[in-house]
Amino acid sequence: MSGGPGDLVVVIGAGPYGLSVAAHLRAAGARVRVFGEVMGSWRHAMATGMFLKSTPAATDLSAPVPGGRLADFCQEQGEPELTELTPIPCEVFVGYGMWFAEQFVGEVEPTRVVFVERAGAAFSVQLEDGERVAAAAVVVATGLAPLAYIPGSLLTLAPHGAGPEAALSHTSHHTDLSRYAGQRVAVVGGGQSALESAALLHEAGAQVQVLVRAAQVRWGAVPVLDRSLAERLVRPASPLGTGWALAGLCRAPHAVRCLPAPARMLVFRRALGPSGGWWLRERVEGIVPIRTRRRIEHARLHGGEALLRVSGASDDRTVDGRAEMAVDHVLAATGYRIDLDALPFLSPRLREAVACVTGSRSPSLSAAFESSVDGLYFTGSLAAPMFGPMLRFVAGTAFAARRISARLTRTVPHR
Ligand SMILES: Cc1cc2nc3c(=O)[nH]c(=O)nc-3n(C[C@H](O)[C@H](O)[C@H](O)COP(=O)(O)OP(=O)(O)OC[C@H]3O[C@@H](n4cnc5c(N)ncnc54)[C@H](O)[C@@H]3O)c2cc1C
Repeated sequence: MSGGPGDLVVVIGAGPYGLSVAAHLRAAGARVRVFGEVMGSWRHAMATGMFLKSTPAATDLSAPVPGGRLADFCQEQGEPELTELTPIPCEVFVGYGMWFAEQFVGEVEPTRVVFVERAGAAFSVQLEDGERVAAAAVVVATGLAPLAYIPGSLLTLAPHGAGPEAALSHTSHHTDLSRYAGQRVAVVGGGQSALESAALLHEAGAQVQVLVRAAQVRWGAVPVLDRSLAERLVRPASPLGTGWALAGLCRAPHAVRCLPAPARMLVFRRALGPSGGWWLRERVEGIVPIRTRRRIEHARLHGGEALLRVSGASDDRTVDGRAEMAVDHVLAATGYRIDLDALPFLSPRLREAVACVTGSRSPSLSAAFESSVDGLYFTGSLAAPMFGPMLRFVAGTAFAARRISARLTRTVPHR
């Protein structure tokens, strides 16, 4: 084990949340080790050609001093200025994260954490290369990738595990969708990931269709740059969109935490339904077939094809006497589930010790993002069931990083 736990804080994950909390902690003089590849999921779990759905003003990482906004990066790099009417290319956001790490974080160790367990009052953190680190506190900022969700009805298509090579994959498995050029692909889901993947697949030469459970697909409204005072009063702006409900959730995430658990879970599940970005609409509507009110009842492999029995479908071909849709690949754009048990690096004993929000496997957290295990913190999407939907997005980094850093610099002795 390298060193005693002393004052060391370990941050697991170097995406927007891990980088922001590490920047604040280091600026406050805390001793921090940050593990993970900088912007790893944005480099390896997002399709090439993707754009961000959030607006530039809602996409700032949180720096402890001025000068760390996306706009500052663009200005310094000579990138064109971004407005609400210019979707942010994924590669610009990756560049911004890497610049932010250099400017405000310092050393990030590109190693994965493979195991974390309690060691007395501290933690033992094991790295991929075998090193064991003793830490006084651990901040889990591992994002969505470990939480990818595929409905059970599809899993029969990938008996050896879902992935790009199998007949079934999840959107988080891909950086390059052009591998499906010339193939028939069914995209399952009706949110941004489904619709953007469908556009990219179509543009790469795949025969794609989108299967959506809902009666219709929703699209974001084109932003209006100069809104009148009356318009702003009726529908105030927020990082997640316009309207009083979203503005309230973004202004007061601490108040969301004080709601009764069932109300909080309702806010978490319902506040932002699936929809496509306004700028994506012209690449999908009338171009890619979108089949609504479709639910996959059964899926099977047959002679190298994926056969889907879909409720509400009347136009499928008959295979072995059953009406089924035949495709070469099924892409599940079915989102993510907050589930502590999907974090394999937390020891089973540690997972059991973490108190969860009633009726869920999402961690119950203090106002400073600390779980019921002293010194173990969760941030980003893992904290969204406590603090509301803003924590699912980059816009929540400032709220989380300030609170975690303030708490840790009070409780963990530092230089
Ligand atoms: C397709 C898609 C599009 C999105 N678009 C937007 C958008 O436009 N705007 C927006 O605000 N949000 C968007 N989001 C949500 C987005 O994930 C978050 O806003 C943001 O990335 C959260 O940052 P994070 O640091 O919590 O997670 P991540 O960015 O996922 O970073 C977590 C990091 O932890 C690393 N990690 C995981 N396990 C370990 C381990 N054991 N050891 C070391 N490192 C580990 C991962 O490799 C990853 O790099 C999108 C999400 C997806 C999936």
